[in-house]
Amino acid sequence: MSSGLVTVSYIGATILFILALGGLSSQETARRGNVYGMIGMVIAVLATIMSDAVTSYFIVVIAMVVGGGVGFVLAKKVEMTQMPELVAILHSLVGMAAVFVGYANFMDPTSELIGIEKSIHEMEIYVGVLIGAITFSGSVIAFGKLSGRIGGTPVTIPGRQWLNLGLLIATIWLGSLFLDGTAEGAGTLPLLLMTLVALAFGVHMVMAIGGADMPVVVSMLNSYSGWAAAATGFMLSNDLLIVTGALVGSSGAILSFIMCRAMNRKFIAVIAGGFGTDSASSGGGPAMEITGDVTSIDADDTADLLNSAKEVMFIPGYGMAVAQAQHTVKEITKTLRAKGVNVRFGIHPVAGRMPGHMNVLLAEAKVPYDIVFEMDEINDDFPKVDVTMVVGANDIVNPSALEDPNSPIAGMPVLECWNGATTIVLKRTMASGYAGVGNPLFVKENTRMLFGDAKDTLEAVLKHLHD
Ligand code: NDP
Repeated sequence: MSSGLVTVSYIGATILFILALGGLSSQETARRGNVYGMIGMVIAVLATIMSDAVTSYFIVVIAMVVGGGVGFVLAKKVEMTQMPELVAILHSLVGMAAVFVGYANFMDPTSELIGIEKSIHEMEIYVGVLIGAITFSGSVIAFGKLSGRIGGTPVTIPGRQWLNLGLLIATIWLGSLFLDGTAEGAGTLPLLLMTLVALAFGVHMVMAIGGADMPVVVSMLNSYSGWAAAATGFMLSNDLLIVTGALVGSSGAILSFIMCRAMNRKFIAVIAGGFGTDSASSGGGPAMEITGDVTSIDADDTADLLNSAKEVMFIPGYGMAVAQAQHTVKEITKTLRAKGVNVRFGIHPVAGRMPGHMNVLLAEAKVPYDIVFEMDEINDDFPKVDVTMVVGANDIVNPSALEDPNSPIAGMPVLECWNGATTIVLKRTMASGYAGVGNPLFVKENTRMLFGDAKDTLEAVLKHLHD
């Protein structure tokens, strides 16, 4: 394929990627956005394979069959609740690729670059390996935390900010040694040492972040993976990879910023880590003790309450994804709306285990978009709500975020359902949510607990609604 045609294909793919991002910004257009992204990726891969950069089809075909096969099996096998951890581990692969490409470029015996061009290329290699290694180890730890293999609570070591500073200084120092290494192979040791430092930094950074701050890490690593891809693009002189990486990097950074704002956190403070463990986020004292009695309710009484309500609000959380209860929620919504009840959904920005998790589930169940509201849009409406159904949510409806300055989630905005007439919480046990914090909502006078798997209990409620 001529280089002109490759460039035209790359421009076409870039436009499709931008359209894909635009489409993903709203539920109505998300499906179309995905299709644009897929077509863009097919064009990008085909143009790259057919360009002069590829000299051996044998290796490319083997790599594509193996990679495509693994991807296909994973995509078929993965449960909806495992999506966040799958995304995290896929980010780690982007980081790993950047590290390998960096080393391959560094060791390339055919490179004939000299002078300033050589220095610039070495800088690209150094930065690429640095971002790649941080992305790789950070994403592996995030995968561990999201899949429950590593505990969700922040692991902080004393003087961790000094350690971070030390690692930063070491990286800069090693960078100067790497670029100074005029003799053949002199840069190898600094590059290797920096890779180890970057790997350690990625681990340390994500281990220190926990509980309710994980969503920021997820979107931040998404952003890093984009910058790692862009760095790879610079090393390979591939314009499409640079543009695509920058698109992912900047959209991830914007998402991290939005998540921070939604959580009432400062981005730098989250990255520095350790929320919920010291006075950084909390008042420094022990968290408030939760006392009071829990009142439970059964499915029949829940259905009666819903039948006599005029305003119903659903608050879905991670447990709805676990129970796969979204279709039953949709059926209940349909039944109540047919009876003239005003049913709405309140979505917390960090509900579930990935940004937009609940919106995806509700869209899958075909819940109408115009009754799904963001937290800020409906939080003042709770005093008018007769029944709030909290379906497998916990941290996002925890009043201690507002009432207890010593709570690890203090300051995080939450859905204030307790201001409504009655709140019904659907969950299996009294266990805490992801942040590991007790929830005083469960003992409030106007709260009723509907214990059991959310799908089972909701099906029982639906049955009674039809009786
Ligand atoms: P939580 O994790 O706080 O609570 C989920 C609740 O669902 C649990 O208390 C659990 O209780 C219940 N549950 C689990 N399975 C079922 C089931 N089958 N049927 C009924 N209930 C069930 O989730 P939230 O959505 O309220 O909050 C999200 C949390 O995750 C926040 O802390 C957020 O910071 C964090 N997070 C969010 C990310 C994001 O990007 N959105 C990424 C990483 C973390 P029980 O076991 O008793 O049933």
